[in-house]
Amino acid sequence: MSASQPPYTADVPTLLVKIFGKDRPGLTAGLFDTLAAFSVDVVDLEQVVTRGRIMLCALVTAPAAGSEGELRSTVHSWAESLKMQAEIISGIGDNRPRGEGRSHVTVLGHPLTAESTAAIAARITDTGGNIDRIFRLAKYPVTAVEFAVSGTETEPLRTALAIEAAAQGVDVAVVAAGLHRRAQRLIVMDVDSTLIQDEVIELFAAHAGCEDKVAEVTSAAMRGELDFEQSLHARVALLGGLDASVVDKVRTEVRLTPGARTLIRTLKRLGYQVGVVSGGFTQVTDDLKERLGLDFAHANTLEIVDGKLTGKVTGEVVDRAGKARLLRRFAAEAGVPLEQTVAIGDGANDLDMLNAAGLGVAFNAKPLVREAAHTAVNVPFLDTVLYLLGVTREEVELADTHDD
Ligand SMILES: [Mg+2]
Repeated sequence: MSASQPPYTADVPTLLVKIFGKDRPGLTAGLFDTLAAFSVDVVDLEQVVTRGRIMLCALVTAPAAGSEGELRSTVHSWAESLKMQAEIISGIGDNRPRGEGRSHVTVLGHPLTAESTAAIAARITDTGGNIDRIFRLAKYPVTAVEFAVSGTETEPLRTALAIEAAAQGVDVAVVAAGLHRRAQRLIVMDVDSTLIQDEVIELFAAHAGCEDKVAEVTSAAMRGELDFEQSLHARVALLGGLDASVVDKVRTEVRLTPGARTLIRTLKRLGYQVGVVSGGFTQVTDDLKERLGLDFAHANTLEIVDGKLTGKVTGEVVDRAGKARLLRRFAAEAGVPLEQTVAIGDGANDLDMLNAAGLGVAFNAKPLVREAAHTAVNVPFLDTVLYLLGVTREEVELADTHDD
């Protein structure tokens, strides 16, 4: 039989056998032992266990003419002997083929309320989409569920769900289904307020006693109200004269974002290359690269002359366009097509990079960035990005257990 032919089960009589009740070892073997006596073939098989209750659905070919009644009574008495419920539904053929236009919709809630779940599901239906499967990706530190949706294009679904997600205060990521999702191989992160909780320039500014002045310029720049390069020069100038020993102090003050190590460790296990690009400084990003085992890092460099910060940066400034350029450069060096890259950032200067990547994630971002990015994460845990890639919490923990 050639692969293009419809399967032999397309129009044969089939039975859907559904078993529900308390889960225990040996149920699947028991059901199929019972069915084996009727020489039926398995067409489809799905099982889900939720809080100790199992739902087992087997789609099998109908037994030989005249023996369906006996199959039904045998299955029912087997189920009753185990205090399980059984339902057997006759029909023709297999499941209807899934619709064209398939997407993965990941919903992150903290908590995930019934109300927001209803709203998201309703918007999926409004766009003409059908929810084919649902499963939980994570219960900690957020509740994350994934919907496999078909029958609607990814882009309009993403737009509709982004609006609803903002209204509901949940995070929703919509990515097109397909092999490319498993082939993502490079992740590039912003540093300040993304990989780390701090803005590095503010840590330097605290040592120079000009924290407030610098913070004011930073937030204006991040809101997109100020040209990044101008604001960088203005802020760095305020650091002129600082002793270079401050660099070591700042390195120890940097606080990683919760989940950062888990994210990087898991991505490395998945074979990803991981890089950072920063409008901050190599004096900090080189240290992070070393500590976290990153593959790429690029940032501005604070000029140091005679043991003092000069208040200038050397080399080409990493700004909004520069970050997108670096994403492309890292992708080329890693041999990864741009559509298989993931970028994460929080500021206006990350937007070009987020839009250039295959998947751009706005992480606890300013409203302007959140609205323009493919997807937004608004919980303060960086490892939730793994759920957007379809990795489950269980897989993350299992990998940790095996390596520890
Ligand atoms: Mg940032």
